[in-house]
Amino acid sequence: MIDVQKIRNDFPILRREVNGKPLVYFDNAATSQTPQQVIDVIVDYYSNYNANIHRGVHALSQEATDAYEQARIKIQKHFNAAKAHEIIFTSGTTHSINLVANGFASILQKGDEIIVSALEHHSNIVPWQMLCEKTGAVLKVIPMNQDGELMMNAYDDLLSSKTKLVFTNHISNALGTINPIEEIIRKAHTVGAAVLIDGAQACPHIKPDVQALDADFYVASAHKICGPTGQGMLYGKEEWLNKLPPYQGGGEMIEEVTFEKTTYADLPHKFEAGTPNICGGIAFGAAIDYMNSIGFDEIAAYEHELLEYATEQLLNIEGLKIYGTSKNKTSVISFNIEGIHPYDIGTILDKLGIAVRTGHHCAQPIMDYYKIPGTVRASFSFYNTKEEIDLLVAGVERAVGMLV
Ligand SMILES: *Cc1c(COP(=O)(O)O)cnc(C)c1O
Repeated sequence: MIDVQKIRNDFPILRREVNGKPLVYFDNAATSQTPQQVIDVIVDYYSNYNANIHRGVHALSQEATDAYEQARIKIQKHFNAAKAHEIIFTSGTTHSINLVANGFASILQKGDEIIVSALEHHSNIVPWQMLCEKTGAVLKVIPMNQDGELMMNAYDDLLSSKTKLVFTNHISNALGTINPIEEIIRKAHTVGAAVLIDGAQACPHIKPDVQALDADFYVASAHKICGPTGQGMLYGKEEWLNKLPPYQGGGEMIEEVTFEKTTYADLPHKFEAGTPNICGGIAFGAAIDYMNSIGFDEIAAYEHELLEYATEQLLNIEGLKIYGTSKNKTSVISFNIEGIHPYDIGTILDKLGIAVRTGHHCAQPIMDYYKIPGTVRASFSFYNTKEEIDLLVAGVERAVGMLV
């Protein structure tokens, strides 16, 4: 059982006010808040052992390197990767996806096919379009239905010996749908295609096991699981990471450099050119420790309770429609009210201290599908409460009263 009052004490930001009202933070799908335990790790790094890693013979460099590599092992264990060097530190999900897309530019040939899902974030659409332009490969899309679920029969029809790559998110950030990635991966493998899973939105709610899933690549951002911004990771199976060329050239990623030829470092350093976000990597590890100290089963159960409660309460409001009605979803509610622009609702809620997201949520194709400009999105975390949901519902009712 989650002791939400105790948990809330870990988050200093939850004590502040916005527009004279206690902050109600429901924009967790955009970024999560940071607990004191992670803030302390960041302060400790810069106060006590800030140094560049992997190079120095001195004590600080050694301490920083140890902490950074310990964090890599924490992440390896969390995702159940077989080897620590299958975890590459990146600046986030977007960077991780671009790293893989860039690598496939030298593997794909004209006429090869890439399959993406209709539920993708822009960061999981644009890099593949760029890759198709470079290679002459063709992008195919798994369509969605009115509930915001992928149409798996259509996926079966898209798969063929031409399919080289399949990309989908684990959980949709715009609608909260949990996609059947086990099935997607299993079927892709029957035609020999590699699969990259965008786990940015799944990792706050689920502990993924990359080996059990048999994912070829799995990517995530620290800032959505109580860690810092500008930090993320790429998991790749060793054989795939060995096949892909380096993404950026520079220090740290080389074995030997002469002007005639440079040989690259082994994994993971081959993909980690330049001085990384050392503190970010260490804090990512601390964020994973924090989440595990609460427990993902507890988090999932509590967030589900919040989702059910909020869905029920919001649907009492006349003219309110929820987008994304799959039975298999996480604590994200995207909604609109007939005749009102989502932005206007968001603005009134902000005056009441309630932070929600409005707009297309970096997923314009989904909005086009529903023929809407955007939605209001309230996304709940394990540190939110039913009382806060009551404030949201009252706020939306107030907005309706003012705007209709
Ligand atoms: C947030 C998010 C991204 C982008 O993550 P960045 O940290 O901005 O790189 C990609 N995909 C999904 C599903 C997301 O929720």
